[in-house]
Amino acid sequence: MDVEGNVQRIVVPTPLPLGGTNVYLIEEKPYTLIDTGPDTETTRADLQIGLGKIGLEMKDVERIVLTHGHVDHCGLAHEFANICNPEILAHEKDRDTIEDFGGAIEKRFMECSDLLSSTGAPPQTFQVIREFLDFLDSLTHPCKVTKTLKDKDKIEFESGAFEVLYTPGHSSGSISLHSEDVLFSGDALLVENSPCSVFGGADKKSVGLDDFLESMEKLSKLEAKKAYPGHGEPFEKVNEKIEGMKKAYESRKQTILDYLEKEELTAFELMNRVFGIMSIEQVLMGLGEILGHLEILAEDKAVETKEKEGLTYYKV
Ligand SMILES: [Zn+2]
Ligand SMILES: [Zn+2]
Repeated sequence: MDVEGNVQRIVVPTPLPLGGTNVYLIEEKPYTLIDTGPDTETTRADLQIGLGKIGLEMKDVERIVLTHGHVDHCGLAHEFANICNPEILAHEKDRDTIEDFGGAIEKRFMECSDLLSSTGAPPQTFQVIREFLDFLDSLTHPCKVTKTLKDKDKIEFESGAFEVLYTPGHSSGSISLHSEDVLFSGDALLVENSPCSVFGGADKKSVGLDDFLESMEKLSKLEAKKAYPGHGEPFEKVNEKIEGMKKAYESRKQTILDYLEKEELTAFELMNRVFGIMSIEQVLMGLGEILGHLEILAEDKAVETKEKEGLTYYKV
């Protein structure tokens, strides 16, 4: 299958700090979109323009594959469901956020509340995180997943197929797709950011940085020549980028160990030491990354934890 000859990239805007989301149309029957972008007027308009340049309309889309259940990727899927009822495919573990983002996030937030309050973050941080999650909820609409995907499933086209790779860590149900040496990585490889995970453990409980790293390993085994990510420009030398991300992870881990050798800190104090002043949108990511590292370091017994007045302190 000539994937490169048949892929059309449409960049749609998002109101989030990371900028645009990549939507890919595979110009082969059945016409398939990989992700849709968020549910905003500007996304809808830009998607219509992008499809129009290829000679298509929204109603021509026959199938949508969602790389994961974050609103900047799946928010507009419901619109297609209303217009032309395409097949909508996603991994089982992100079905909840696609079908009911508000409810799923509420549940996750409750489940994580003990962990979050043990980090030592001031109560107003949680309020701000809540408000941010409500804002994210406004960028999507519930949409039924018509078929769930699992690792190694095939997505068939007229002249070939994509294989599904289960790559959790960024979200519990993140998937990547590949065909021969071309990879669609969703947010499993965010090369312009440091390694990050946002409570995306496969078990839906852990922060999931360990799963994120394992997924990177899995993707590196493909030795893909070209990757089409969820954000930013498509890139070549995929394994070099993965190596770069792994190095960034190791250097962040060392920074954390250096701080914890000097003093005992909560996750929130550690986050402030490592990242300095952060914007509100970044706190959730920052805390997620720090907790991800601490989860792994505690498991490896590289750091000790101590509970004091409801807070967890870490020390080498
Ligand atoms: Zn994402
Ligand atoms: Zn994204």
